[in-house]
Amino acid sequence: MPDEIVINMLKERIKKKDCKKGFILDGFPRTIEQMKALEKITAIDTVLYFKWPEGVLLKKALGRRTCEKCGKIYNVADIRISDYHFPPISPKKEGVCDDCGGRIILRKDDNEATIKNRLEVYEKQSAPLIKYYKKTGMFRVIDVVGPPEVMIPIILKEIGYE
Ligand SMILES: [Zn+2]
Repeated sequence: MPDEIVINMLKERIKKKDCKKGFILDGFPRTIEQMKALEKITAIDTVLYFKWPEGVLLKKALGRRTCEKCGKIYNVADIRISDYHFPPISPKKEGVCDDCGGRIILRKDDNEATIKNRLEVYEKQSAPLIKYYKKTGMFRVIDVVGPPEVMIPIILKEIGYE
């Protein structure tokens, strides 16, 4: 989606009541251009950068499975690296989506070459942005040490919301 459309959608969304006390943008901005556009519509006070243990992102991406019908994401990867454990995200019944009963499949573009390329593009795109945010003093690095239930209290503490 073009930046202009995303920014306009965002601008409208953050005007809503539920954003009055604050909001979290996940995976946005990703480029300097997006960051500049974002700064024009709202002030950001914290940037969280999630640092994954080596190799986990690739394994997680390779383990991704998608519901053919509704797009819900599952994951077959069961990753243990020293103290880290990222368990699989499985449906109640194997191969069948919990939400809609659709078939759970491996998407063609979830192969190793495509994923590696995706990760490379991400790193290349976000490097200047990271450099910029580091200088602002609002940049926090969060080491990912487990699944969401482990991470949520750590993140809340980091942003002073205990
Ligand atoms: Zn589904």
